[in-house]
Amino acid sequence: MSVFQHATFYTTVNELRALPLPEGVEIAFAGRSNAGKSSAINALANRNRLAFVSKTPGRTQHINFFQLGNKRFLVDLPGYGYAKVPPEVRRHWEGLLGTYLQTRESLHGMVLIMDVRHPLTPLDRQMLAWFGSTGKPVHVLLTKADKLNRQHAQKVLKDVQVFLRETYPQCSVQLFSSKTGEGVKEAGGLLAEWLGPLESGTDLIQEADAASKEGFPAPEIKNPRLKGNKTGGKLP
Ligand code: GDP
Repeated sequence: MSVFQHATFYTTVNELRALPLPEGVEIAFAGRSNAGKSSAINALANRNRLAFVSKTPGRTQHINFFQLGNKRFLVDLPGYGYAKVPPEVRRHWEGLLGTYLQTRESLHGMVLIMDVRHPLTPLDRQMLAWFGSTGKPVHVLLTKADKLNRQHAQKVLKDVQVFLRETYPQCSVQLFSSKTGEGVKEAGGLLAEWLGPLESGTDLIQEADAASKEGFPAPEIKNPRLKGNKTGGKLP
């Protein structure tokens, strides 16, 4: 079963001080807008509209949290690479994203989405630089693999593998297609490893399942928020 099967929207954040308490395990999804991030999240969750919430007006520049189980979160980061972004919006984005990626203790790893036809754009490299410097793992999904022939897709995979091995050895890469399902199982397996085993007895999904079997209401999901400003270090 998919690790994201029970994902539910948790909260949306546009300022560092509004971040939930850094408890548990978070996995962030990042990528250039239109690279296929929402489709990849939906494919991994086996749902059609889970990441749709991140595309609703007013939320596209926000960090959107989805709860996967007790203290496990999928974090959908704003898509980057819009041609015309006012400088103040760009500065805000850099402060929010860069600080989140570099200082968030509960962030275990990042899934970086790249269109297989346009891998490693300058902003993709910036994301790798921000997060790769923490030593935490990045898994690159080369999406829309169905749009290239096999030989071409394998060549891109090899090139990105070589780049990562030389610059960020803790990072990995695979081909992915939300359309054909290629690579969904492989990516899901890795994310399940990152999230770790569910804590028996304390996991909300298990509690909710057990409660519904017994005819009890599901447990309430709390949404703790940080009080006060918790900004972090400088960007490179
Ligand atoms: P996002 O902006 O990164 O969230 O990108 P979306 O998930 O909204 O995808 C952008 C466009 O690419 C949409 O038209 C999708 O249907 C299309 N798309 C996304 N993933 C794939 C894929 O794996 N294969 C193909 N052929 N199209 C895809």
